Amino acid sequence: MSRPETAARAAGAGHDDWDVIVIGAGAAGLMCAITAGARGRRALVIDHANKVGKKILMSGGGRCNFTNTGTTPAQYLSANPHFCKSALARYTPADFIALVDSHGIAWHEKELGQLFCDGSSKQIVRMLLDEAEAVEVQVRTHCSVGDIRRLEQGGFVLATTSGRLACESLVIATGGLSIPSMGASGFGYELARRFGHEVLPTRAGLVPLTLSGKHLERINDLSGVALDISAHCKGVAFRNRMLITHRGLSGPAILQISSYWRPGDELRLDLLPGEDALAWLQRQQHERGAAELKTVLSEHLPRRLAQRLCEVWLESRPMRQYTPAQLHDIATVLSAWPVVASGTEGWRTAEVTLGGVDTRGISSKTMMSNTVPGLFFIGEVVDVTGWLGGYNFQWAWASGHAAGSVA
Ligand SMILES: Cc1cc2nc3c(=O)[nH]c(=O)nc-3n(C[C@H](O)[C@H](O)[C@H](O)COP(=O)(O)OP(=O)(O)OC[C@H]3O[C@@H](n4cnc5c(N)ncnc54)[C@H](O)[C@@H]3O)c2cc1C
Repeated sequence: MSRPETAARAAGAGHDDWDVIVIGAGAAGLMCAITAGARGRRALVIDHANKVGKKILMSGGGRCNFTNTGTTPAQYLSANPHFCKSALARYTPADFIALVDSHGIAWHEKELGQLFCDGSSKQIVRMLLDEAEAVEVQVRTHCSVGDIRRLEQGGFVLATTSGRLACESLVIATGGLSIPSMGASGFGYELARRFGHEVLPTRAGLVPLTLSGKHLERINDLSGVALDISAHCKGVAFRNRMLITHRGLSGPAILQISSYWRPGDELRLDLLPGEDALAWLQRQQHERGAAELKTVLSEHLPRRLAQRLCEVWLESRPMRQYTPAQLHDIATVLSAWPVVASGTEGWRTAEVTLGGVDTRGISSKTMMSNTVPGLFFIGEVVDVTGWLGGYNFQWAWASGHAAGSVA
């Protein structure tokens, strides 16, 4: 009878044998390895890029919006909105804040529960590397993976550019497709398919919207104009800043709604958020009947936008000349300004990838594959995508922690 082949022996002479190998040294991968290392597991993190945590470094304008104190499952998009609940409940923003505090990293809340480093994103990467070192996790950059073989008795053997590696548990933490210049690759999806997992269609999220033809021509010379709006699409609304760009629309409110918008969907912008537009117009008519609409609007909206609205969508007259029905129509334009977007700026500028490894094939408690024991998927490669505001890192920490607790 032949002896069972172990992962270590299958890797051959001179192999590197590990309890856990994590592919992807980003937020989720590092957290997973640190958690596994703290349990006494021998963990190795490999990454094909030249340095770890590139997205952490570039995040939050260089200050890393590392979590959101208001995190709940409601801020995540997924074909299964329940999937993220377990991991998020077991590793919370307070847990990550405690870690940040224990490293003496100063932080502040910017708005809406969003926590940023006072100094630099580099402090978060340094913290993760220090934590990894403290529990003897090894991290190897410049390491690409080719063939991955699963052994019948359990375990995996990987052919990599730094030799053959063997492990009991293999964690896929390769992230999404956004910003290919930062090391993003479709490797995690390809691997998931190779192991029989479904991958839901991916698309760019948290991304500026583009306009074309007359829709763009009407506003592109207003590039640089910014204002508070509320963006509405398919029953979802976000109130925040919007920026007009020379290709279309950007700013936090637009990035947020972009994750819900698909080509052909109706998108409407409330240019007077928090205000009853009709009541406001009626008040203006009553108090300043001689003032022209464009003057009144310019006092509430950026002047160039107010003027453009009156050139293209509205007709500017002294306020007293409008009938109640006309005031009603103006209120509709101001509170539900229709925007016809043609697309998004795509992977080059998207902050996240929507879709990904289908959660139906993964345990929400452990992030382990339901069909391939020892194989885990964490972070952005999974079909769980957060809103803008620190929610994506919180998912990376939480899902990494969930897997690292058992891998
Ligand atoms: C510009 C920008 C700003 C952002 N700002 C924020 C923010 O402030 N707050 C927030 O919550 N979220 C932010 N995000 C989103 C956040 O960065 C991601 O959701 C998060 O990094 C996902 O973590 P991850 O570990 O799953 O993947 P990543 O952090 O993307 O890590 C994946 C790692 O896998 C490696 N990899 C990929 N393919 C391979 C391969 N074939 N072999 C080996 N290694 C591979 C990559 O090099 C990378 O190091 C931002 C994103 C961008 C693009």
